[in-house]
Amino acid sequence: MAEPIILADHVSFSYEEGGPLAVQDVSLAVEKGSFQAILGQNGSGKSTLAKLINGLYVPTEGHVTVCGMDTQSEENTWEIRRRAGMVFQNPDNQLVATVVREDVAFGLENIGVPTEEMPGRIEKALRDVGMLPFADRAPHLLSGGQKQRVAIAGVLAMQPEAIIFDESTAMLDPQGRREVLSAVKRLNREQGITVLWITHFMEEAAECDRAHVMHQGRIVLSGTPREIFSDVKKIKPYHLDAPPMARLSQALRQQGMPIRQGVMTVEEMAEEVARLCR
Ligand code: ADP
Ligand code: MG
Repeated sequence: MAEPIILADHVSFSYEEGGPLAVQDVSLAVEKGSFQAILGQNGSGKSTLAKLINGLYVPTEGHVTVCGMDTQSEENTWEIRRRAGMVFQNPDNQLVATVVREDVAFGLENIGVPTEEMPGRIEKALRDVGMLPFADRAPHLLSGGQKQRVAIAGVLAMQPEAIIFDESTAMLDPQGRREVLSAVKRLNREQGITVLWITHFMEEAAECDRAHVMHQGRIVLSGTPREIFSDVKKIKPYHLDAPPMARLSQALRQQGMPIRQGVMTVEEMAEEVARLCR
């Protein structure tokens, strides 16, 4: 197994001393190069866990390490945020400059990257998310999906090992969602960037290597999307649905069509239907 980039070891967290635990006894290992999803209904602790990983919060109990650095030690904080960058839900809150290129530069200035190194890093990051042609545009004129890709470029320019996406597609239209997810999948596949993808879209979770379901602050299920979604009864108590294509395949099987078990994505469904029609 590859080394874990992100390791949570029996982590609990409460927002106020003696208050309820927003995250409870969570252990999680995210291996280098993997693409993992965190699922769970509102209030289940996903964002809190993301902020614990990114060092914005420090565990009340347990330890989080990122690339071997414990988030408890304050001297690690900046390096942890650089190595495990975060992209949030609302793209408008993440863009600060009046020109796309300057927005990507912003984080680099904060971590003291030499000026002469900046243009190369900025252009590579924008190219990697397909936004280089927009480098000199005003961010507020971009679509939601484009803004999120600029936010990703801002993180990428810091040369992170991992990126945590906290419902980064939740405010986008379907086109924007596809744009962002496919850019992120490409970064994972081609550059080996580790991805922790928090979402409530089950069709997005279906595309990950591994998914974890959170409920009342705990991780209650972990496995491949196939393991998690193969049995609708298993996820119902956590108020989650199977991905649309898994539901469709189940409905078709109930109608007597011999669709195989484990269909999760549109591509897999297309293959199945084509196979049956041949
Ligand atoms: P999710 O991202 O899954 O919706 P959160 O991590 O935001 O869940 O919330 C987990 C729990 O922590 C919830 O009960 C929520 O009300 C509580 N919580 C979240 N943020 C704060 C905060 N800043 N102060 C106090 N409680 C919070
Ligand atoms: Mg949240």
